[in-house]
Amino acid sequence: NIQFSQLGKRMAAGSGIEDLMEDLGKTLVNSDGSIAMLGGGNPAPIPEGQKLWRERMSSLLAEEGDGFDRMLGYYDPHQGNRRFIEAVANLFNREYGWDLEPENIAITNGGQTAFFFLFNLLGDSDSKILFPLSPEYIGYSTQGLSPESLLSVPGKIELQEKPFFRYRIDFDALPQGTPIRAACVSRPTNPTGNVLCLEDLERLHAYCRAKDALLIIDNAYGTPFPNMIFRDEAPFWREGVVLTYSLSKLGLPGTRTGIVIGPKAVCRAIASMTAVVGLANGTVGQALTLPMFEDGSILDYCRNTVRPYYETRSRCAVKIVQEELEGIPFRIHEPDGALFLWLWFPELKMHSAEFYQKLKEAGVLVVPGHFFFHNLPGDWTHASQCIRINYAMDIDGLPEAIRRIAAVLRS
Ligand code: PLP
Repeated sequence: NIQFSQLGKRMAAGSGIEDLMEDLGKTLVNSDGSIAMLGGGNPAPIPEGQKLWRERMSSLLAEEGDGFDRMLGYYDPHQGNRRFIEAVANLFNREYGWDLEPENIAITNGGQTAFFFLFNLLGDSDSKILFPLSPEYIGYSTQGLSPESLLSVPGKIELQEKPFFRYRIDFDALPQGTPIRAACVSRPTNPTGNVLCLEDLERLHAYCRAKDALLIIDNAYGTPFPNMIFRDEAPFWREGVVLTYSLSKLGLPGTRTGIVIGPKAVCRAIASMTAVVGLANGTVGQALTLPMFEDGSILDYCRNTVRPYYETRSRCAVKIVQEELEGIPFRIHEPDGALFLWLWFPELKMHSAEFYQKLKEAGVLVVPGHFFFHNLPGDWTHASQCIRINYAMDIDGLPEAIRRIAAVLRS
């Protein structure tokens, strides 16, 4: 009869992100073709990308000494590989005229780990982490070791031309009295594909400055890499901003490589936390992409291959959904980027948890929407009327998958 600590119970009690990863593993291993996989956040297997990474790995294998042998045989410093960090700093400085120094950067074992570190470095029960535009990334929930440390403000719904809608930050509803240590947004937002406009970012930044809080912007799908944004955008860098990046959606989720760019004190703290929790970071993602960060070709790959790949599929997915859900009341969040469609069924007769189960029985895996609203202050029916679908994995199978969703809705 093994007893777990309070913390152990909390972290091992199950979570939306755990369900999502379990669904992902099951279908990847067991799929017999009968289940339509629209869950998870796996990037698409882009053929040009797969070839590129194979070629890079072959080059590494051929490099004795500093290449392959160093990658496998040595721990990196806990901040990350020095040469990789310098390459990242130089790339942003060259491209955007910033003045990053290596001390403004820390590497983590994936973006997910970066958020666990950031939220617990900054948030506690009386100085919170704010999600000013809920729904937000499912993986943020359960990350605060203090359960009270996360707080969400519902997005304001704006209906657009059918079938679209958008969430906007409800600036009037942002907490004034409550102490906030950081506000966090993903841009593009997972699950909605919303790319916050510059004006809203400036307002949010001003709100954070006035509260002496950091503004964390999660660029897991952002610019300039992987650049899954369907219009030209620049990253947002100001005083008191922390940017996170990841190599995952470039097609390298298996390398578990996250990049934090921020004030030196924050990056130093992140490196310290890496040393405590895992000694050092995995080296493979950094070694594999190093020359592409050094010569800037990573940006060409994202601009010329990644963005068009997802942009084309996003348009196509919207069209398929419109055709197959004809006659059913639904809305799609306007997709500015990322690899999801966020579907809202305003007349759904059941909770999204039940809807998810019914869809699973009908052979479609999606992610139910209620998992994306973390510690909302009150009940919001809307939060149980949405689902997220990942259209990236199998666009050819999408019409059949949406037909199955339509059949469940009609019945
Ligand atoms: N942030 C967002 C918005 C994500 O969607 C994800 C993964 O799906 C992550 C962070 C974490 O990704 P990783 O740990 O693979 O870098």
